[in-house]
Amino acid sequence: AREIRLAARPVGEPKPSDFEVAEVAVPEPGAGQLLVRNVLLSVDPYMRGRMSEAKSYAEPYRVGEVMWGGAIGEVVTSTVDDFQPGDFVLHNLGWREYAVPQAREARKVDPEVAPLSAYLGVLGMPGLTAYVGVVDIASLKPGDHVFVSGAAGAVGSIAGQIARLRGAARVVGSAGTAEKVRYLKEDLGFDAAFNYKDAPVAGQLAAAAPDGIDVYFDNVGGDHLEAAIGAMNQYGRAALCGSISGYNATSPPPGPRNMFRIVGWRLRLQGFIVTDHYNRMRDFIAEAGEWVRSGRLKYAETVVEGFEHTPEAFMDMLSGKNTGKMIVSL
Ligand code: NDP
Repeated sequence: AREIRLAARPVGEPKPSDFEVAEVAVPEPGAGQLLVRNVLLSVDPYMRGRMSEAKSYAEPYRVGEVMWGGAIGEVVTSTVDDFQPGDFVLHNLGWREYAVPQAREARKVDPEVAPLSAYLGVLGMPGLTAYVGVVDIASLKPGDHVFVSGAAGAVGSIAGQIARLRGAARVVGSAGTAEKVRYLKEDLGFDAAFNYKDAPVAGQLAAAAPDGIDVYFDNVGGDHLEAAIGAMNQYGRAALCGSISGYNATSPPPGPRNMFRIVGWRLRLQGFIVTDHYNRMRDFIAEAGEWVRSGRLKYAETVVEGFEHTPEAFMDMLSGKNTGKMIVSL
């Protein structure tokens, strides 16, 4: 069986030689463990953070360690009563063909209820992130004007739609290609969208949100955050979810130059990490499960085939080749 390890800590953008594929024996499950054959692997931006030595909210990977993270597999052998061969489980052991999770750390997922990939995206961690950010952190109110950056990605595409479904009056998104801008407007029903590569964000945002914004869902940081602070109405709220424009930076990116506006306009900017909010999973699934079933909450996935292409899928996600959730199918 194969597994993919961190071979070297990337400097700037990760490259193929930062990863290595290793051949290992199929592991034997011990008491309380499952043997799982993975079918889907998740590639996520936070994994870039873990590849660096600097301690962040997420523990760094060690060089030589498997790139662990979200994955879904089929139970081959079970040592506990709650799981049977043939069950599908979500676990956190990452980029390997076979995994041996503790049964108590694996969550059963039902392909009859939703396609398995949905548990890594719209109904999984990214979906919950969008929900918590919009509902709890930004305290979205009906009538709010909302801006979402990284809007065509796994989290952003769901965040914009949840804002709308929760009563936002206007939802604006930014993304990095013309096709993504089209997708946001025509397929997801965003009121306006722009390509941040076409012209400075501040001017494009001002045109797309002529009445300003009350809520900003930040996936990008940098220029996007400065532009959003500049566009916010009094008492505006920002949920700071990510800062992907800086993840490959080799020195700290400059901060917004308009911080005093936070004072004058009485703004609230709050960061959050989804792992603190898993107590909201039940509410999220109750509400979003129904939206997905009824077709009111749409989602896209970009699926890359083949275990050996996992690092490429990860690098492609960081450079924007995905629409919706990037997933590897084995
Ligand atoms: P996405 O599916 O959005 O994929 C990443 C996207 O980022 C790419 O598709 C690309 O789209 C965009 N991007 C890359 N570089 C830049 C750049 N320099 N400027 C602007 N956009 C860029 O990933 P996720 O939805 O999984 O994650 C989105 C954000 O949410 C990330 O910042 C992530 O760290 C954060 N996150 C935070 C969590 C939390 O608990 N706080 C939990 C999960 C995610 P494009 O073509 O538009 O450039």
